[in-house]
Amino acid sequence: MKDLPPFHNEALADFTKPANRSAMEQALAKVKAELGRTYQLHFAGKNVETPQKLQSYNPSHPAEVVGIHSKATAEMAREAVEDSFAFFSQWSRTPVERRVELAVQCADLIRRRKFEFEAWLVYESGKSWREADADVCEAIDFIEYYLRQMLRWNSPEALVQMPGEENQLVYLPLGVGIVIPPWNFPLAIMAGMAMAALVSGNTAIIKPSSDTPTIAAKFAEVLLEAGFPPRSFSLLVGSGAEIGDLLVMHPKTRFISFTGSRETGLRINELAAKPQKGQIWIRRVVAEMGGKDAIVIDDESDVDSAVKGVVASAFGFQGQKCSACSRVIVHEKVYDEFLEKLKPQVEALTIGPAEDPQFDMGPVINDGARKSILNYIEIGKQEGRLITGGATADGEGFYIQPTVIADVPSTARIFQEEIFGPVLAVSKARDFDHALQLANDTEFGLTGAVYTDNIYKIEKACEEFHVGNLYINRKCTGAMVGAHPFGGFNMSGTDSKAGGPDYLLQFLQAKSIAEKIK
Ligand code: NAP
Repeated sequence: MKDLPPFHNEALADFTKPANRSAMEQALAKVKAELGRTYQLHFAGKNVETPQKLQSYNPSHPAEVVGIHSKATAEMAREAVEDSFAFFSQWSRTPVERRVELAVQCADLIRRRKFEFEAWLVYESGKSWREADADVCEAIDFIEYYLRQMLRWNSPEALVQMPGEENQLVYLPLGVGIVIPPWNFPLAIMAGMAMAALVSGNTAIIKPSSDTPTIAAKFAEVLLEAGFPPRSFSLLVGSGAEIGDLLVMHPKTRFISFTGSRETGLRINELAAKPQKGQIWIRRVVAEMGGKDAIVIDDESDVDSAVKGVVASAFGFQGQKCSACSRVIVHEKVYDEFLEKLKPQVEALTIGPAEDPQFDMGPVINDGARKSILNYIEIGKQEGRLITGGATADGEGFYIQPTVIADVPSTARIFQEEIFGPVLAVSKARDFDHALQLANDTEFGLTGAVYTDNIYKIEKACEEFHVGNLYINRKCTGAMVGAHPFGGFNMSGTDSKAGGPDYLLQFLQAKSIAEKIK
C-alpha cells in the first residue's frame, strides 16, 4: 500500500466562483433528469427487487418523487443478518491494508462525483448548496479520517514486556453491525458510521432513513464501484418500525451504530440489551441522539458577533441539525440590545426552494415535521413573546418562517423539548452563573456556545457547561472531522465522538496475547 498523506479536511466549494456555480448547475440538471428512478435492495451479495415500494420526495416540491425503492421484508432482513454473519469470517480476515485501500477508493469516487452527490442532497433532503457541500465534504472527511485511524489501531502502542514473554494487544472487529442514520446528514453520518464499521473489518447492514433512501442507494453504488465485496455490506430500505426492531434484536447482530432521535435511540438501547436465544454476546450500542443546544451571551461580549453566530446556528438548514442552537440565554444587561439586533437579521433571511442558491433557507424535511414544528410554535406563543416568524412561509415546499420567541422560562416546553426546526427560544439570565445554570437545565448535552470576553468566565464555562461539544465565541454548529470530535452527554447519547481519534474503538475489541519465549 502506498504511504498516505496526513489527513486534511476536504475544502468547501466557493460558490461565488463561476466554475463551481456552473458545475453545481450542471449536476442539478443531470440529477433532475434522474429523479423518479427505481432502486433495488442490496443484501446477501445480490440486488433484489420487491413489489412493495417506498418513495422519497423533494421537500421543496413535495409532488416530485426523488426515488422509488424496493422495501425489505422481515424475511429479507433476517437473511441479510445471517449472510452478513456468514461473510464476517472472510471480511474480518481481509488484510487491513486492503480494507483501507478500498476506503481510499470510495472517498476518491465521492470526491469525483461531489457536485452530483450535492445535487441529490438538495433534492432529497432540502439542503441549500452550501449545506449540501458541507455534508459531502464531511462524508469524505469521515472516510479519510477513519481509514487512517484503522492503520493506527493496526499498529498499536507497544505494551510493557514481561521478562520471558512477548506481550501484544491486537484490535479485532466485532461482527455484524446495523447502521441506522438520520435524514438530516443523510450522506455524512451514514457514510461515516458505515465506513467506520467496514474499515474496522465488520460487516455492515445499512438501514437508511425512509426520507433519504436515494442518497443511501448512491453511496451503496460507490461502495461496490470502489471494490467492497458485495457481501460486506447490505442496503435495506424499509421503515424503522417494520424492520428496525428485527435487525436490532437478531441474535447474530453484534452492534448497532445509531444516530437519530432520543426516542428511537432509547428504544434501540432497550431492545438491544435483551439477549435472544442463541445470542452469545452483549450487543454494543452507539447511540447519538438529540439536542437542545444553548448559546450563552454574556454582558462582557461582542453582541454583534453573537447575533451572527446565533442566526447561523439556529437557522442554518432550517434548524434541523442536532447541533442547532434552539435556546439563547442572554445576560439581562444586553438582553434588549441582543433582541433588537437579532430581529432584523432573522427577518432578512429569505426562504425558497433549496435548488435556488439565492435563498438562505429551504424547506423542512416533510409534512409531519412541518406540522410538529408549527404545533411547537403555537405552544411557544403561549409560553413566551413572539418576536418574529410564527407561521408557514409562502410556496409549495414545506416552508416555515424563522421564528424567535423571547422571555421563555426554563420550565417551558419550547425550552426543554427538541423541536428540530427553525424555532429559537430566548431567555434572560440575571448573571453569568445563572446563564450557565439555565444552559444546563436540560436532559440533553450535545453542543453549546458561550460569547464572553472574560477569561475567568471562559474557564468557568469550560468546567461547568455540561455538553459534549463546547464552543467559545463562535457558533455551535459546523463541527469539523478531526478538529471537533462530535458526540453528546446525557440524553444526547453515548458521546461516541464521531470524527475523533477514539471513535473506531467502538467498532473493535482488543485481544491481549502473551507468549512465553522458549
Ligand atoms: P429518528 O426518527 O429517530 O430516525 C433515525 C433513524 O432510525 C431512521 O433511519 C429511522 O428509520 C430509524 N428508526 C426508526 N425507528 C426505528 C426502530 N424501531 N428501529 C430501528 N431503527 C429505527 O430520527 P430522525 O428524524 O431521522 O433524525 C433527527 C434526530 O436525529 C434529531 O433528534 C437529531 O437531534 C438527531 N441527530 C443527532 C445527531 C448526533 O450526532 N447526536 C446527528 C444528527 C441527528 P425511518 O426513517 O424508516 O423511521
